[in-house]
Amino acid sequence: MTARLLDGLGLARRIHGEIRPEVAAFAAKHGRPPGLAIVLVGADPASEVYVRNKLRSGAEIGFRADLERLPASATTADVLALVRRLNASPVHDGVLVQSPLPRAMGDDAGQRIFDAIVPSKDVDGLTPVNMGLLVQKRAQFVACTPSGVVELLEREGIQIAGRHAVVIGRSDIVGKPMALLLLHRDATVTIAHSRTRNLEALCRQADILVAAVGRPGLVTKGFVKPGATVVDVGINSMTDEGTVLGLFPEGHRRLALFRAKGSVLVGDVHPEVAEVAGALTPVPGGVGPLTIAMLMRNTLHAALMAHGA
Ligand code: NDP
Repeated sequence: MTARLLDGLGLARRIHGEIRPEVAAFAAKHGRPPGLAIVLVGADPASEVYVRNKLRSGAEIGFRADLERLPASATTADVLALVRRLNASPVHDGVLVQSPLPRAMGDDAGQRIFDAIVPSKDVDGLTPVNMGLLVQKRAQFVACTPSGVVELLEREGIQIAGRHAVVIGRSDIVGKPMALLLLHRDATVTIAHSRTRNLEALCRQADILVAAVGRPGLVTKGFVKPGATVVDVGINSMTDEGTVLGLFPEGHRRLALFRAKGSVLVGDVHPEVAEVAGALTPVPGGVGPLTIAMLMRNTLHAALMAHGA
């Protein structure tokens, strides 16, 4: 069996097309486009790429999308001051602080900063208010990556209700909201993490397996029940030839790409899983583009809510 590839990129483009007229209608009605501000602290290379993609998609769809940059030397107080200014901005409906923050800011910086975003502009769904509303199944804003996954499963006609979903990863931004979204759609959900025992055997029970770990190729064939749907959230930029050779055999297109560029993006799911899974999201071109599409949808939603719609 070769898994059906779930085309996240194609779906993201369709969603952008769906949003575009609504964005134009908002701009015509209110005399300004819906606005998104992205706060980037420091110069983490992966974050630079993610932020650039978000800004580009926003501009293409018709949003106002602004980058608010702070140096890596910024203090928590500096970022909090910026977030408060954006909370009060009349042209920004959504405020996103890109993770990760520089380590030097300290362990609790992220939480303090996310807590400061006004919930009505929290398009990443990370504030305690929005997390709490999600737990209670009355979410206003849900983290973009897990909502993108659910959007993909539903539009691809993959049944969720009554099925066993295993989510590997329990972060606030992916794993936990992912598990809740699946639970709210009547899946039976198991959350696995670094202390889970017999991970491989547990995952083999899943009808829907979501890997959100950050370990390249962790999920191998043995983790997957034949025919299961496998969602690969992981994005890992590999620069080590040994690891890449463990994922792609000689002659593979991605190995050639690695040799040409010196790096390659891989997921948490080993490519061999395509031999057993029923459906699989590719990396790149799977969950990543949907994360951006959901960010755009959340920003439009924030703008409409701010105007009482
Ligand atoms: P975190 O590092 O915050 O969380 C990783 C989770 O994986 C933790 O819960 C951790 O467990 C668990 N874990 C780590 N090692 C193992 C292991 N060997 N076995 C089982 N579980 C393990 O990462 P994020 O949730 O932020 O991101 C996960 C991945 O998704 C990353 O690759 C990231 O780049 C990618 N990502 C992709 C996005 C997209 O748009 N496609 C968006 C956001 C993230 P514990 O809690 O016990 O430490």
